[in-house]
Amino acid sequence: MTELLIKNGLVFFAGNLVRKDLSVVNGKINAISENQSVTEAEKIIDASDKIVIPGGVDVHTHILDLVYSYRDDFFTGTQCASSGGITTVIEMPLGIEGKTAIESFEMQLKEMKKKCLVDYGLIGAAGHNTIDSISELAERGVVAFKTFMINAPEEEAELKDLAAKDDYYLLEIFKEIAKTGLVSSVHAENDAIIAHEIENQIAQGKTDFIAHTNSRPVISEDEACMRAMVLANQAKVKLNLVHMSSKTSFEHIRNAKQMGWNVSCEVTPHHLFFTTEEAEKIGSWLKVNPPIRSIEHQEAAWNGIKDGTIEMIASDHSPYSHEEKDMKSKNNNIFECGSGTPTLETMLPMMLDAVNKKKISLAKLIDVISSNPAKRFGLFPRKGIIKVGSDADLVIIDMNKEYTLKSENMYTKSKITVFDEMKIKGAIEKTIVRGRVVFDSGKFCVEKGFGEYLTPNSSN
Ligand SMILES: [Zn+2]
Repeated sequence: MTELLIKNGLVFFAGNLVRKDLSVVNGKINAISENQSVTEAEKIIDASDKIVIPGGVDVHTHILDLVYSYRDDFFTGTQCASSGGITTVIEMPLGIEGKTAIESFEMQLKEMKKKCLVDYGLIGAAGHNTIDSISELAERGVVAFKTFMINAPEEEAELKDLAAKDDYYLLEIFKEIAKTGLVSSVHAENDAIIAHEIENQIAQGKTDFIAHTNSRPVISEDEACMRAMVLANQAKVKLNLVHMSSKTSFEHIRNAKQMGWNVSCEVTPHHLFFTTEEAEKIGSWLKVNPPIRSIEHQEAAWNGIKDGTIEMIASDHSPYSHEEKDMKSKNNNIFECGSGTPTLETMLPMMLDAVNKKKISLAKLIDVISSNPAKRFGLFPRKGIIKVGSDADLVIIDMNKEYTLKSENMYTKSKITVFDEMKIKGAIEKTIVRGRVVFDSGKFCVEKGFGEYLTPNSSN
């Protein structure tokens, strides 16, 4: 029985937009062909004047339910995802006080099973405290690992399992992850340079938005990027550098790839759409690490996408309450405001607008937001492509619809978007996961817990 038939849409198939009908059986794409018969289908969607693309695969979210449920939980977080055309979320690890990395992982997974509206995977914590858990986390199905190049204070529960306190441990972590064959995602910033620069800013009485930007100079990213690549190459681990932002880091990554090193990188939507001056106007809602940099770095990010240096766009979705984010409630001290911003629901719409503005082709966008993340994180071709046999994870988009993004309309509990009041063209009409319509023009159509747990290369 055909569960779903999408008629008359322009389907992104084999690298092109083609007018085809698409049918779904058992949650999988069953046929992509012309003039399919409608008599047998349970549900028919007329996609005339619409484009059908594979669902987005976001490999970097911090929904952080369980500890920070007031910011977002796995239900609101995946409302954000589905309304934003993301059909797979890969959630970052969260150290829970008094729990081991494996216990924290199991608690996250249990909560996701109850609440997620879209499919999901988990990243495992890989820090100096958790080296012994890496192989077991891999057995339990994590799609990758995450490490911070910092010496986190032991009392910081959230970071305790993810910190590599020095380079000896970073190398040992990489060697252990290499044995699993999984990707090692690394937040690459030089801890010592930043710690001293923050002290310098505060000593000079500088605590405004730009003080944060200045406390994390390009060299703090470049040095850590190089060091992570050198150690990862030594350990023969697949390295993924998250939310990279500097022109020189992109050059280093490009060179490393030319030498055959196994490295990939992500860029966030906020680093693509803002420069330092624009970020300063928005203020603390756009306090992120690494900071939003100048236009030459922004341009380098777009060029990096174009030439393949940057394979993935990932949201780094990090919601906070207004109280945690706003300068006024933090004594006008940027260093006391939370770092990170929620972008899960705005990332693909902003990128569709960029397609309309000819900043990126639709084919390239699908590569960086869907196919490449699925490939790198072991979920391809179940996810990340429209082809017969793949999961029917689809987004029906209206490239001509114009609207204004507004914080108050966001599904994130934080009600924050740095794209507030932006007029854009290109809207997500329907989001479909395994053949079921999850989001339809402002309505959510599946029960909590519809999402499925994904492990690398499961059912491939
Ligand atoms: Zn992050």
